[in-house]
Amino acid sequence: MDLQLKDKVIIVTGGSKGIGEGISRCLAKEGAIPVIASRSVTESEQLVKELQGEGSPALFIAGDLAEPGSCQMVVAQTISRFGRIDGIVNNAGVNDGVGLEKGSPEGFCSSLNKNLHHYYDLVHFSLPHLKKSRGAIVNISSKVALAGQGHTSGYAAAKGAQLALTREWAAELLPFGIRVNAVLPAEVMTPLYAHWLNTAFEDPDAKKKEITEKIPLEKRMTTKAEIADMAVFLLSPRSSHTTGQWIVVDGGYVHLDRSLT
Ligand code: NAP
Repeated sequence: MDLQLKDKVIIVTGGSKGIGEGISRCLAKEGAIPVIASRSVTESEQLVKELQGEGSPALFIAGDLAEPGSCQMVVAQTISRFGRIDGIVNNAGVNDGVGLEKGSPEGFCSSLNKNLHHYYDLVHFSLPHLKKSRGAIVNISSKVALAGQGHTSGYAAAKGAQLALTREWAAELLPFGIRVNAVLPAEVMTPLYAHWLNTAFEDPDAKKKEITEKIPLEKRMTTKAEIADMAVFLLSPRSSHTTGQWIVVDGGYVHLDRSLT
């Protein structure tokens, strides 16, 4: 299937590690131009160099998206280099464990800033360009928004709000033909996931085994390439009548009958 993404300029936040890396690679393979907005300088420079070596004009824009003004800067630099924006993948985030009992109002606000505010800011500042291109938006949320995790109120609130904003923006942007969808991963081995396993559990390998045994389809984690394939399809005109959707890519982990595992 030709995804018709050749030369489309797509901003991917956190696009050089984990799920974001998978999305940037998949976009480049489809002939699109990934613009990686991230604070991971070494990984981003390496990835962009690799993609450029394969003929992609991929671009890295360094910065912490939680800092005021950074999303506006990302949009300005993208426009200055390519003159257009065809899509946004809001992906950067961190499960920072700001809980209800073990947390604070300040910590909760800070978590929303790291996980939610830049999703809004980037789309807000890109909008004039997305209107011109009739672009598409993909928000990477999480199963935590549907199932909870415990001890991570800020992250859970941000992930839930991302789902609400997916519907809200899909409605607001109907007149411009801009489609907005969300992808919800559950268990994907990435640097963030590995950090969570290694810090939250005494025996990370045993915990990983316990989790994967409960994943109905093939008793394995979802790969970042599988998340990327869905995100890139949703960015492409081949999903031209799909908007406002929450797509759970998790081997049936959240929704299938427990008795199947
Ligand atoms: P990851 O391995 O930590 O990669 C995320 C990338 O984004 C990193 O390069 C990170 O930089 C960067 N980043 C984070 N916050 C940033 C900020 N404020 N400004 C600039 N760059 C920032 O994470 P991942 O597991 O791929 O997760 C990606 C998305 O998927 C997140 O929204 C997460 O909630 C969601 N998700 C993941 C899973 C999973 O199983 N992995 C499950 C459900 C949802 P640093 O390395 O400096 O932090």
